[in-house]
Amino acid sequence: MADDAIRCDACPVLCYIKPGRTGSCDRYGNQAGKLVRLDPHVVLDRALERGQPVVPFLERSNDWDGSLMSHGETFVTAIGAGTTYPDYKPAPFIISSQVEGVDMVTVVTEGIFSYCGVKVKIDTDRHLGPECSAIRSEGEAIGHVTTSEYGSQMLSLGGVRHLTGGSRHEGSATCDALLNLCNGNAVELKIDNGAKVTVQAGKPPVVDGAQEERMRVGCGSATIGMFAKQWFGKVDEVVVVDDHITGVLSEHQAGKLLGVPETGIKLKGRRSTPGRYFQVAEPGTSWGGTNIEDPLSILGKFNAKKAWPGLRLLMVSTTGEHYAYFELAEDLKPHEAELPANLRESVARIKENCEPALCTVLFMGGAGGSLRAGVTENPVKLTHSVRGSLTRVTCGGAPVYVWPGGGITFMVDVARMPRNAFGYVPTPALVAPIEFTLKLADYGALGGYVESVRPLSSIAATEDGRKRVNAMPDNPWPLESAEVSKKK
Ligand code: SF4
Repeated sequence: MADDAIRCDACPVLCYIKPGRTGSCDRYGNQAGKLVRLDPHVVLDRALERGQPVVPFLERSNDWDGSLMSHGETFVTAIGAGTTYPDYKPAPFIISSQVEGVDMVTVVTEGIFSYCGVKVKIDTDRHLGPECSAIRSEGEAIGHVTTSEYGSQMLSLGGVRHLTGGSRHEGSATCDALLNLCNGNAVELKIDNGAKVTVQAGKPPVVDGAQEERMRVGCGSATIGMFAKQWFGKVDEVVVVDDHITGVLSEHQAGKLLGVPETGIKLKGRRSTPGRYFQVAEPGTSWGGTNIEDPLSILGKFNAKKAWPGLRLLMVSTTGEHYAYFELAEDLKPHEAELPANLRESVARIKENCEPALCTVLFMGGAGGSLRAGVTENPVKLTHSVRGSLTRVTCGGAPVYVWPGGGITFMVDVARMPRNAFGYVPTPALVAPIEFTLKLADYGALGGYVESVRPLSSIAATEDGRKRVNAMPDNPWPLESAEVSKKK
């Protein structure tokens, strides 16, 4: 180029980059006329994890004896490895190693994912918004509320429709939120007809400005089942208030087996089975994830034939955060009284059994597309190899779950990956590291680029810009394949 700009061909944007400048995604730059991947290339080392002396990565490479295989204690991740585009070129790094006498190869690339998103699990019983409600970031819809799970609200964010199917701003707001969540940063989300939630992987959620402390112990029915014995004899009736299943001790099977007498209590809502009520109130952020501030509002009149003056009633939420104690007056109306000391312990026990509330962020991407062509000339063979467990897929060295069925659709917990492992390109799409590790013999059999296989030491000796990171001790070592484990 006349102005010394060089062309980056690592993604479809094909930026022209002037000397000293970076391309649109800030991943590549022009350094003295050379196209350079700007973030350090991350290499995992498990020497520390195993209590072995740490040898600086580059020093180790000086000891290279020219053999093709390295010792298997270092794993080249795809973080900062770069991308090849178009995909039919071999992946940027195809690295050999020897693990327990087995020749292995790891194919490493930063995949560009238009088909990707994150699944967010938020441990809270507070109602964040109706199912299917749009979730917004920077005012743009970037996902929706999906079916809640036990003690947690679930969000589905991103996906190809939000990335590519709407306006340019919707696509970039989606990409930006996904990138921040995957890189471990906090993102503020607004749910239509619902709450404002701050989400950060591995941190407690913040719902409408209040940090969530604990997730619920279980639904109302489960709570009755768990604690019925501790209430028996100390109180005549217990109602555990819950958005989904509210439990009533005297009607519940747990109360029946203990011999708790009928109390003539009447609950609003729909009776599912004895002692289990649905829809006692609207969802909300108060008692047990409902909208009620006054627990008595979910009770009807006590049946005068069964109830008696002085009847002791405990109402408690599924986290123990809300509780109130009542006694029936002569007119059988409940009057609030101080919680007796012998019931305090059971309320504290509910709290004690609630786990800390956290946000979990799983990146989900489809690697069954064109990036396979950087691994093999016959892409479907890679899919079959992954399906047959001959090829291990990792994401920045972290284990992934590959969905059954077609394609290579995987999920990874971003908290198990090195921080800032993700990037983006302005198409817009997310850039995620992906590594395929398999036996060298299997790699040849699936039509891999065997001529491009090179030892770890060869890249270490000739290129700089690498960063050694200690492997996470809780992650399985990516070079220890099932085959190798079997051989041990
Ligand atoms: S957006 Fe980034 S990867 Fe794509 S061409 Fe520009 S600099 Fe290269």
